[in-house]
Amino acid sequence: MEKRGTAPDKIDRLEPKVRRGLIVIITGNGKGKTTSALGMALRVCGHDLRVGIIQFMKGDLYAGEWDGVKKMSCDIELFATGKGFCGIQGNPYPWVEHRANAQDAIDLARQKIAAKRYDLLILDEINNALKLKLVDLEQVLEILRDKPPLLHLILTGRDAHPQVIDLADTVSEVREIKHAYRKDIEPQPGVDY
Ligand code: ATP
Ligand code: MG
Repeated sequence: MEKRGTAPDKIDRLEPKVRRGLIVIITGNGKGKTTSALGMALRVCGHDLRVGIIQFMKGDLYAGEWDGVKKMSCDIELFATGKGFCGIQGNPYPWVEHRANAQDAIDLARQKIAAKRYDLLILDEINNALKLKLVDLEQVLEILRDKPPLLHLILTGRDAHPQVIDLADTVSEVREIKHAYRKDIEPQPGVDY
């Protein structure tokens, strides 16, 4: 394999006594939720496991991870669905269209889970989709309750629902201390998208 960096020659590997799939939530108002999930995808690839990423409300504006995943030599698929953030200033699409797109994304997630296609599935911005009623609480709870035991699921986005948090194993809140946009610095490629 082409060498891309260095690692120690002598390494130990941990193996858990019991493998189990975890439900992880990354929520909060600070920057770093989606990129945290993408970081776990990078790790999962290192273990030769398979990754799926379904992004809600994101299909309208390019993000580096769309091509980034194609450049990773592992089993990783990304589906950017939707037409941008529902309700944000300047978004021209009606709620019903956002809802239909999010429902398609839920169907896709269900199909991929049923087919046992991945070891890690990231449902990016699904917390926001739930908050905006583009998906229903029961749909999300059902995915969490019925998931295969070894599947890791990561749910990102602000305002995670308390009942979704109840079913999760690991929940982190990213809190804004500062954000460049408050200084009117535009989003920068690579860091912000
Ligand atoms: P990232 O994708 O960088 O990990 P995130 O998933 O935590 O960020 P989101 O709320 O999904 O954050 O925001 C998506 C992008 O918009 C991020 O790049 C973030 O830096 C930027 N952003 C977040 N909040 C604001 C805001 N209020 N105004 C402008 N840009 C913002
Ligand atoms: Mg995000």
